[in-house]
Amino acid sequence: MTAADGAALRYVGRFAPSPTGPLHAGSLVAALASWLDARAHHGSWLVRIEDVDTPRCVPGADEVILQQLATCGLLPDAPAQWQSRRGERYHQALDQLVVKGHAYPCACSRKDIENVHAARGHARERHAALPYPGTCRHGLQGRAARSWRFNATDFKPKQPPALIHKAQAATNLIANSIVHWQDRRLGAQQQNVADTVGDFVLRRADGLWAYQLAVVVDDADQGITDVVRGEDLADNTPRQILLQQALGLPTPRYLHTPLVCGDNGEKLSKQNGARALDLTEPLQALASAAQVLGLPALPAEHPHPQGLPDALAYWVTAWRRNYNGAP
Ligand code: GLU
Repeated sequence: MTAADGAALRYVGRFAPSPTGPLHAGSLVAALASWLDARAHHGSWLVRIEDVDTPRCVPGADEVILQQLATCGLLPDAPAQWQSRRGERYHQALDQLVVKGHAYPCACSRKDIENVHAARGHARERHAALPYPGTCRHGLQGRAARSWRFNATDFKPKQPPALIHKAQAATNLIANSIVHWQDRRLGAQQQNVADTVGDFVLRRADGLWAYQLAVVVDDADQGITDVVRGEDLADNTPRQILLQQALGLPTPRYLHTPLVCGDNGEKLSKQNGARALDLTEPLQALASAAQVLGLPALPAEHPHPQGLPDALAYWVTAWRRNYNGAP
C-alpha cells in the first residue's frame, strides 16, 4: 500500500526549508501551497528544518523562518523537527541499504569523476552534474572509501500495473530502470535515474548526510502522505522513490508548485540573491504567493476578507477547487 492509498483517511503534509537564510518570495509559495493543501484535506501540517548541509546553513535562520511562518499565520500542528538531530536514524537507514546490497562505499573525488568523463570524451554542460560513472560499484580496488552511494544502476524500480501489462503484451519483458510517477500538477513523469544521475550519494565525503537519504527517512518517520514543494525539486523525486522502495517505505503523493522567477528569468533562490521577504504586510506577501499558485485575488468588495485568517480560509476553498483538494 502506498501512503497515498491511506490519504483519503489521513493526510500529513510538511514544509521542509533549508535554513540557508530567511524565507524569500519563492519559498513562501511552497510554504503556502503545502499549508493550503493540508488544510484543504483537513489534514495536519508539519515543519521540518533541513539543516543537514551544515556549511550552507546560516545560524539563526531556522528561528527566523519559523517566526516568518507564524507572522503569515502558517502554524505547524506539532513542534518543528531538525534534521541535524537525526543522524542516528540516517545511519540505520544506510546500514539497512548496505545489508541489502543497495549501497556501496566510493573512493572517487569530484575530480576523479570529471576525469573519467573527460577520458570518455563526454562534453560537460555548464553547471550540469555529471552522472557517476560507476567506478567503485564493484569494489574500491585498494582505494580509501570517502562517501557512500546508492546503487541505482542495478536497482529495478517497481513498475505501475498499467505499464507492466503493456510491457508484457509487447515483449514479455519488464527490464526497465525507469521510475514512473504521477505529479498532482505536472501529470505523468518519468526518469531513468541510472542514466540521469547515476549511483547517487547517500553520505558525503565530509561525513554529512545527503538530502536524498534524510528526506526519505524523515518523510516516512513523520508519516507524510503528501509532499508539496517547489518544481525545482521535481527531478529529485525519482531518486527518493527508489530509496523508498529499497528501504520498504511508502511513497507519498507529490505536487510540485510553480516557481517564482527573478528579473533575469531565473528561478528565485537564496543562491542567486533573492531578497528576504518584507513581512510588514504579511497579507500582501501571501497574496503574491497565492497569485503564483494560480489562486484568485481576494475580493475587494463584500464579503471582503477581514485579515489573515479570513484570507487564508478564502484561499483554502480556492485551492480545493483548483487542485481537487478535498478527498
Ligand atoms: N530543504 C529543501 C529546500 O529548502 C526542500 C526539500 C523538500 O521539500 O523535499 O529546498
